[in-house]
Amino acid sequence: MKIAIMGAMPEEIAPILEKLKDYKTTNYAGNKYYEATYNGIELVIAYSKIGKVFSALTASTMIEHFGAEKLLFSGVAGAVSPKLKVGDLIVATKLAQHDLDITAFGHPFGFVPEGSVFVEANKALIEMSKQVAKEMGKSVVEGIIATGDQFVANEERKNWIGSTFEADALEMEGGSVAVVCDALGVDFFILRAISDAADMDASFSFDEFLETSAIESAEFVMKMVDKIVLSLNKN
Ligand code: SAH
Repeated sequence: MKIAIMGAMPEEIAPILEKLKDYKTTNYAGNKYYEATYNGIELVIAYSKIGKVFSALTASTMIEHFGAEKLLFSGVAGAVSPKLKVGDLIVATKLAQHDLDITAFGHPFGFVPEGSVFVEANKALIEMSKQVAKEMGKSVVEGIIATGDQFVANEERKNWIGSTFEADALEMEGGSVAVVCDALGVDFFILRAISDAADMDASFSFDEFLETSAIESAEFVMKMVDKIVLSLNKN
């Protein structure tokens, strides 16, 4: 079994690399990919750089070039739901691209022909995350994540994304990674820890909480890996 763990920024995968210590680094397609053996399974880890294009490239590379069979994303996000506070964890049930717009042709936001507005994440991995949350004594919210090539620091835009997609959180990579994994038939799981509220103060909040929220998310994702290893050993 080979599992991909990806983030968008160095801070999002640093806690994972720190935990592994020993890994092989490969330069490929303008990025660094880190490979390691962990508890008898193989891991490939990378940060993509920010946004939908880079994250789609990295997810595709991890699957097609490195042979990843499952993909776990760890990172930070802006909260849309007022229930989500800085440091809280959200697991995506489904994801949409909030900046995809051919509504001039009568299509809904986030839709292109032969695509779909939402891509659903793997249900078994979401179930597994509930157990992990319980064992860690953490609460993890399940919700809809909206993705776009914009850092949202604007109440109006945030509320529009919330009402149009019923989104609970927003970020810049999950929706594109979801499209790639869905097309290539790879189970995926998108976890985000809240770094800001996507409002006027978002950039300050982001800078302040990026590191601590990224650690929250990375720790949880590594526990997910442990759980996957356990379930493989049982079968
Ligand atoms: N500080 C960075 C830019 C960060 S962009 C720099 O100057 O280089 C924000 C990143 O965190 C993206 O990867 C995105 O997925 C996530 N994110 C967190 N809060 C967000 C918000 N309010 N809007 C959009 N993306 C957000």
